[in-house]
Amino acid sequence: MASESVLVIGGGPAGLAAARSVADLGGNVVLVEQRDFLGGTPIAENYASITPHLESAEVALGRVVDAVQGHPGITVHLGAEVISCTGDAGELTAVLRSAEGEQPVECGAVIVATGFQHFDPGRETQLYGYYELPDVLALQDLESMLKAGSVVRPSNGQAPKRLCFIQCVGSRDRHIGNEYCSKVCCGVASKEAIEVRQALPDCEVFIFYIDMRMYGYWESQIYWPAQEQHNVQYVKGIVSEILPFGDRLLVRGEDTTMGRPMEIPMDMVVLSVGMEPSPGTRRTAQVLGVAQNKYGFIDAVDLPLDTVSTSRPGVFAAGAALGPADLEDCASSGAAAAMRAMAVIRGAQVAV
Ligand SMILES: Cc1cc2nc3c(=O)[nH]c(=O)nc-3n(C[C@H](O)[C@H](O)[C@H](O)COP(=O)(O)OP(=O)(O)OC[C@H]3O[C@@H](n4cnc5c(N)ncnc54)[C@H](O)[C@@H]3O)c2cc1C
Ligand code: SF4
Repeated sequence: MASESVLVIGGGPAGLAAARSVADLGGNVVLVEQRDFLGGTPIAENYASITPHLESAEVALGRVVDAVQGHPGITVHLGAEVISCTGDAGELTAVLRSAEGEQPVECGAVIVATGFQHFDPGRETQLYGYYELPDVLALQDLESMLKAGSVVRPSNGQAPKRLCFIQCVGSRDRHIGNEYCSKVCCGVASKEAIEVRQALPDCEVFIFYIDMRMYGYWESQIYWPAQEQHNVQYVKGIVSEILPFGDRLLVRGEDTTMGRPMEIPMDMVVLSVGMEPSPGTRRTAQVLGVAQNKYGFIDAVDLPLDTVSTSRPGVFAAGAALGPADLEDCASSGAAAAMRAMAVIRGAQVAV
């Protein structure tokens, strides 16, 4: 007998959007999240604020989490994972594993929203010294500092007087196999640069970029204000290494506009790390038997006009499990996957 339930795997922005949309359309949702809280990476990694209005990430996601947790059509399983899924679209049986044991769930369709992880800047780009030099951070580290209201050099607890971002760390890099653009890091770095300038008006802030990629409205919402209102200094250049320099850091590379080598002392360096598939995305793809692309993200098999169908009928994907995505992409693909999942359920019910 066809099931009325949709199983949503992952309780981040995309999974929350999918769950809420299915429930608003009258379906039942079983939402499975491996962590013991909802909200996804922005909450787990303590993001301070989100584009475009620099609203607190906790407040913005809290609203969505509350809507999901209070929805009568949604059952949430925290600290749980899906370990198998058998059957066909319309009549699937998944098994959830949690500390309480294993439990079968009947569902008509599945939405995978298992998200991303930050590129590990110590993995291949050793020359940036992420694990060796305490004042070299990644975007998410600075988010945590901004959230805590204290942007200081980890080495000495003092406010930086000069801070720079280095773009495209772990993205657009054939050498490491991540040729894709991670899409959000130019906007996120510019957003964080504004916040540093607001918090520390005496701190000079630089962004070293190959080329800035601002998607859609971020150009006027973040990029131009960063330059014109907050004096963030954008330098087209390639940074080849970061070295200790007394009690500071030396950023060494090439200013590609001027065509000459550059060596600039900094107090703090922030690596704009890219997005890679989360371990949960890789695992879930295997458990469900859906195809992954060469980077490990879940393959959307009917692009460009169907952005959420996977290689397995009845299984859809949303958000950063499909590839680099911002929050607006996550909300849109979550809702699109919900529509497609409901169509499977309704179709199966009509056919029975
Ligand atoms: C530093 C930084 C700042 C950012 N700031 C912004 C911003 O200001 N504006 C913006 O638009 N975008 C921003 N982004 C992008 C934004 O974080 C992502 O678009 C968004 O988090 C992706 O949501 P998601 O639900 O697809 O994945 P995630 O947020 O990664 O959530 C996935 C969820 O799935 C769970 N999960 C994983 N595997 C399993 C499993 N096997 N079983 C059960 N659950 C599982 C995870 O625990 C997690 O809760 C930022 C990104 C970075 C790196
Ligand atoms: S968004 Fe910007 S920093 Fe991120 S990979 Fe693309 S160009 Fe590089």
